[in-house]
Amino acid sequence: MPAGEYMRIFPSPFSLLPFPIVLSINGTIARPAVLKVELHAHTDLDPADYIRHSTRELIERAGTLGYGALAITLHDRYYDPAGDRHYAQEHGIVLMAGIERSIEGRHLLLVNYPAACAEVGSFEELRLLKRRHPTGLVVAPHAFYPIPSAIGTGAARHADLIDALEVNSMYTRWVDFNQGAIAWARTNGKPVVGNTDLHLLGQLGTTYSLVDAAPDPDAICAAIRGGRVEVRSTALPMLRAAWLFGLSLGLGAAGRLRRLAGREPAASGQDGSTIRRKAKR
Ligand SMILES: [Zn+2]
Ligand SMILES: [Zn+2]
Repeated sequence: MPAGEYMRIFPSPFSLLPFPIVLSINGTIARPAVLKVELHAHTDLDPADYIRHSTRELIERAGTLGYGALAITLHDRYYDPAGDRHYAQEHGIVLMAGIERSIEGRHLLLVNYPAACAEVGSFEELRLLKRRHPTGLVVAPHAFYPIPSAIGTGAARHADLIDALEVNSMYTRWVDFNQGAIAWARTNGKPVVGNTDLHLLGQLGTTYSLVDAAPDPDAICAAIRGGRVEVRSTALPMLRAAWLFGLSLGLGAAGRLRRLAGREPAASGQDGSTIRRKAKR
């Protein structure tokens, strides 16, 4: 394995290949043996950070990189995949409902829940949501990063609510705040998933999950909860990490200015920008 690249594998009862394979049997194409999955991605519908790419541009990029499933997780805005589902299918992607919800000041990814999950404001309400919708998935993103939105030591108090911990793509060989999440997951018998926390299209592919599941949101979430998931992750070169970190601060500041000016993007399940651009060709 080249220097700077390493693989993290959470204990798993099966062995996975490093990338999804499409088998050709008697001229027919079988589904990939495993699904390459991203569960933490922002798009230009995000009301908090200023994001340049549209949902459909992200879908196109994910399709090109061999992803099989994608959850859009906007800050405190529910993403309903209905409007883009067919477009995603055309690119081989299962699109999943999601939100990056601030709950008592901590970020949590709520994946594959109905729109009511956007109203969850406390850990007690999250407990009720999980009871009502057992097919959903709660992921603690950037759980032990030194940022106020990380769940951090609160993970112990709310362990029953967390289905999986995130290995976040933003790390280098020398600076890696994921180690706390990996250790906590091992101690508490939780799986880890690999996410980019995508704010820029170029981030896609550096960290992801391989999930042993049929291409279906319920099946993907069940497989992750059952530990049938492995993380593939490559440390970022120091300069790229510094550039991405600086850019994400800038995008966050641009988003705050936009909110102050009352110009948040309209909530929409369907993005027309790609359609318009393609129609010009
Ligand atoms: Zn976050
Ligand atoms: Zn995020």
